[in-house]
Amino acid sequence: MTQYRRLKGTHDVLPEDGLKWIKVENEIHQLMQVYNYNYMRTPIFEKTSLFARGIGQLTDIVSKEMYSFTDRGGKSLTLKPEMTAPIIRAYLENKLYAQQSLNKLYYISPLFRQENPQAGRLRQFHQFGAEALGSPNPTIDAEIINLALSIYSSLGLKNLTLKINSVGDPICRIPYKKTLQEYIQPNLAKYCSDCQKRFDENPMRILDCKNETCKTLNKDAPKISAHLCDDCKIHYTQLQILLDQLNIKYELDNNLVRGLDYYTRTVFEITSMDLGSQNAICGGGRYDLLAEELGGQPTAAVGFASGIERLLMVMEKQGLLLSEEERLQVFLIPVGEAAQQIITEWLYKLRNAGFRTDMDYLKRSIKAQMREAHRQKTRFVLILGDDELKNKNFSLKFMDKNEQISVPYEQLISFLKSNSE
Ligand SMILES: [Zn+2]
Ligand SMILES: [Zn+2]
Repeated sequence: MTQYRRLKGTHDVLPEDGLKWIKVENEIHQLMQVYNYNYMRTPIFEKTSLFARGIGQLTDIVSKEMYSFTDRGGKSLTLKPEMTAPIIRAYLENKLYAQQSLNKLYYISPLFRQENPQAGRLRQFHQFGAEALGSPNPTIDAEIINLALSIYSSLGLKNLTLKINSVGDPICRIPYKKTLQEYIQPNLAKYCSDCQKRFDENPMRILDCKNETCKTLNKDAPKISAHLCDDCKIHYTQLQILLDQLNIKYELDNNLVRGLDYYTRTVFEITSMDLGSQNAICGGGRYDLLAEELGGQPTAAVGFASGIERLLMVMEKQGLLLSEEERLQVFLIPVGEAAQQIITEWLYKLRNAGFRTDMDYLKRSIKAQMREAHRQKTRFVLILGDDELKNKNFSLKFMDKNEQISVPYEQLISFLKSNSE
């Protein structure tokens, strides 16, 4: 018989980890709501061309990593490798801009990329993120950064570094790219093959290369910050003033770039020392030209995306996931046939009252049922036998203290409530 196994680069969330995911996702939902962002879901797959246009043909994602396939109707479809293009597609298609001038949206979603699996890089992974569509104002850039940091801090993360940069806009970037190409050209042959490919279309991405030789060659490259036009300079300065007002620490990083032409002005990254070389847990920025690239009206936009598996890795390293596990609150044990029916009624009464309650379904002995209650770290065991039936009460065992008392039926729920802190 074939033993089926999960595919390379995929991951099962097992019962022992389920609660971690719920806690992290609950925290994300809560902070997003507090910041007045609205939850959205988009389909798992879209037309391939949406991503080719929305991410860029020359990127690794589009050229090497997408799960694309032809459906039975002959259409080329792709499992979504990122969320910004689908969000913009849905925003334009559903004319969200007609309902309000600023749309603040967020998502939590699985994504798919055929990468070489390594720590923190999966082929099906999960991201959460936010997109604010409709405002060119740097206050919303600051809000997006603050929102990401607030979520991390509410989860207890420490030692994060925020790096920011401005990549300008078409007005200042076109002359800057020329200046940069003039700097690189004499040494182009010494750069790695990826950089050589990027030279014509995407020279700014060369600044971002992690190859040591390229890094050394880039040491004296002209900086975009010295070539920003007045409007971009004002935007960048205002962002820094706003972050200062919010007491958010940041580093200016001239080498932080996004290679694609629809990125404008703000780019940022949040990194953790606890992630090794893949140290970014969050990336974001402004992309005022993407909506037009996807066939819509010009729409000022800024957002971020954050990998949940990487976030969990950092939390694990920082000891943030070891907190209390969910305990079974009540385990019911009937003794004898007569008790069986009454105890089933109480099972649902207690569940309706909100107690995590369970009983035995395997006809095990009383002793084995007590062992099961211990295994599940149960707080209270309720025993119902002939004596208890006659007196209309339960024998209640405090499992932590190994004490036992009698509690009348009508006092049971209020007793459990007042003893469950
Ligand atoms: Zn390189
Ligand atoms: Zn500019």
